[in-house]
Amino acid sequence: MRHLLSMADLDRAEILRILDTAVTMHEVQHREVKKLPTLRGRTIINFFFEDSTRTRSSFELAGKWMSADTINLTGKGTSVSKGESLRDTVRTIDAMGVDMMVIRHMASGAPAQIAQWTGCSIVNAGDGTHEHPSQALLDAYTMRARLGDLEGRHVAIVGDLTHSRVLRSNLLCLRSLGARVTLVAPPTLMPSGIGPWSDTDGFATSYELDDVLPSVDAVMMLRVQRERMGGGFFPTAREYAVTYGLTTARLRRLPEHAVICHPGPMNRGLEISGDAADAAQSLVLDQVSAGVAVRMSILYHLLAGEGSDQ
Ligand code: ASP
Repeated sequence: MRHLLSMADLDRAEILRILDTAVTMHEVQHREVKKLPTLRGRTIINFFFEDSTRTRSSFELAGKWMSADTINLTGKGTSVSKGESLRDTVRTIDAMGVDMMVIRHMASGAPAQIAQWTGCSIVNAGDGTHEHPSQALLDAYTMRARLGDLEGRHVAIVGDLTHSRVLRSNLLCLRSLGARVTLVAPPTLMPSGIGPWSDTDGFATSYELDDVLPSVDAVMMLRVQRERMGGGFFPTAREYAVTYGLTTARLRRLPEHAVICHPGPMNRGLEISGDAADAAQSLVLDQVSAGVAVRMSILYHLLAGEGSDQ
């Protein structure tokens, strides 16, 4: 495995290998001295053209805790702001002899294109509305840690599906792991081509959150991505919160064992209430913690593990 561009790059066995290695990596996080020599002498550039808190800092920590040399770049403060083309920018970085670029970009497909232009390993850290594979892997890790094997488990993915790269990666990942997925969104935020209850692709859809919640093992609330919305996708924020938000009242519809996930950043009071975000069933901070371990595992498998091309 040379690149991680899409969850479609990984089969079930590879996903499980990454998740199992992440369990070992997670132990490092709880040590006093957080350092493994595994990637000594390797150089990783985290190139984030779009904002990020969790993904950027966890990729940086993952690299550092494995002793790689890591550098962080953003569009601002580089020659991108002087009008340099994406191709010239990444080829310039590549010419310095880096081993890996972790790329976040507002254009869907940018990491795949960069993989064609450069000789290093490319990790997609979120591209437009396309994919966010490391997020799907950390979500699977977090749900497995609480629920066990995801085979046959029912996961509802709820909210702004149209604009969500997290959705696309999670669908691929959860399907590979044998989970049953129901997508819930208002008709305006249901991606085109997906109609109600057409489960030919291994998932069901619904416009009714209240009908779906009582049978879930996990509910994944997705952020309303206002920055990607050109027009009015719902009448008012209040109406959205009442109809599709995980409100405090709605928590009662969840089975006792069911868990709540959200990739962050959360719009508290919109897609998720403060009570739901902080409930005992909420795994939001477990997701953040798993993010570092899972990204360490990804770096390991791409740069040092058996089958890496380096
Ligand atoms: N942090 C995730 C992403 O970058 C989810 C979100 O922004 O809503 O896609």
